[in-house]
Amino acid sequence: MKEHRFSPESLMMSYGYNPELSEGSVKCPIFQTSTFEYRTAEEAKAFFELAYGLRDKGPKEELGLIYSRINNPNLEILENRLCLWDKADDCAVFESGMAAISTIMLEFLKPGDLLVHGNPLYGGTDHFIEHFLTSIGIEVMNVHADESIDNVIKQIEASGKADKLAMIYFETPANPTNDIMDIEAYSKIAKRFSTADRKVYLAVDNTYMGPIWQHPLQFGADIVVYSATKYIGGHSDLIAGAVLGSKDIMVRVKTLRTFLGNMLGPHTAWLLLRSLETLKVRMDRQTKNAQQIAEFLNNHPKVEHVNYLGLLKEGTPEYAIYKKQCEAPGAMISVYVKGGEKEAFKCLNALKLFKLAVSLGSTESLAQHPKTMTHAGVNAEHRERMNITDNLIRLSIGVENAEDIIWDLDQALASI
Ligand SMILES: *Cc1c(COP(=O)(O)O)cnc(C)c1O
Repeated sequence: MKEHRFSPESLMMSYGYNPELSEGSVKCPIFQTSTFEYRTAEEAKAFFELAYGLRDKGPKEELGLIYSRINNPNLEILENRLCLWDKADDCAVFESGMAAISTIMLEFLKPGDLLVHGNPLYGGTDHFIEHFLTSIGIEVMNVHADESIDNVIKQIEASGKADKLAMIYFETPANPTNDIMDIEAYSKIAKRFSTADRKVYLAVDNTYMGPIWQHPLQFGADIVVYSATKYIGGHSDLIAGAVLGSKDIMVRVKTLRTFLGNMLGPHTAWLLLRSLETLKVRMDRQTKNAQQIAEFLNNHPKVEHVNYLGLLKEGTPEYAIYKKQCEAPGAMISVYVKGGEKEAFKCLNALKLFKLAVSLGSTESLAQHPKTMTHAGVNAEHRERMNITDNLIRLSIGVENAEDIIWDLDQALASI
């Protein structure tokens, strides 16, 4: 027989787990333990030498289990499975998306460095950058999706801090507006400003699209981050985060994680292993639903405008970026209703099937008002520039029957 490579969705039930090591249990048990017994003192010595980087790994040598802040089977199996989707060397899972994001920023940015970031960003990320990173002397410059790449390069050069540029960070599509940024073009900017002894890292928050519909590492990103709370978890019942990248990058990320102690717990990792088994079917259904719903909204008389990747017009620059780097339009819809906050609230309050809640990517459809909820803490001027307006409602489309979702939106819009 010809050799056959299984696709990630076929491997989510088995990859990286050996039932023989767990009494034949088909499903990976929860390794609810803080510490691991060593066979001999010599073995423990060898593990610690690797853990502390005191010597290089031998051929085929793996780091043995030491202590659950450093490693744990549930975390390792989850990390190995997440690597399959993004074709990453390694992955580190965290107790939240914010723990993942703050850890990479603390590892790769030092006082005096310049961080260039896309706008808008998730409200928590925006807060961490604007209020914490700036307070420890990190310079921040923000760029918008509608700016040309040449203009971004000019701005970096004009800042006088080009030699201090350490990281470019963005979300694409961005939360909550669905603006998209060209990953490949920004990876070229990162390379342009890198020197032999100072690499500029491109980090992409792929929460909106990943790990199925977009793979930033394949377009030149160095680091991918996730709020695994969203699509990866997919059931609104846990908080988690993940970082993926090359071996060298991940050694640094995992080392800082060991000492910050913000790794995921084994029980949540086990829940995520379960979530990964249905990830592909959930996300396929969600994007199929979302396309139908976006088209419905786009023709609705109470709707001013809809931002959804599946509605981008051929021939526009956004469409070209979308076609290059996305495999599906996703399941997040930004709806600008006719009117202002009053009309948006009326619609939100009238929803019956949708839950009025923040978060996204779950099996149930969720709706929220970014200006007064997820992005309430964002600088008002920035918010205006990013089109986070009074009449914007953000929808996360779930796995329900599409006709039911459409019925719900139709009756809620009728209340305006
Ligand atoms: C939710 C979210 C985060 C933060 O993740 P938590 O798991 O809530 O800490 C970061 N980025 C994006 C795009 C998000 O939607």
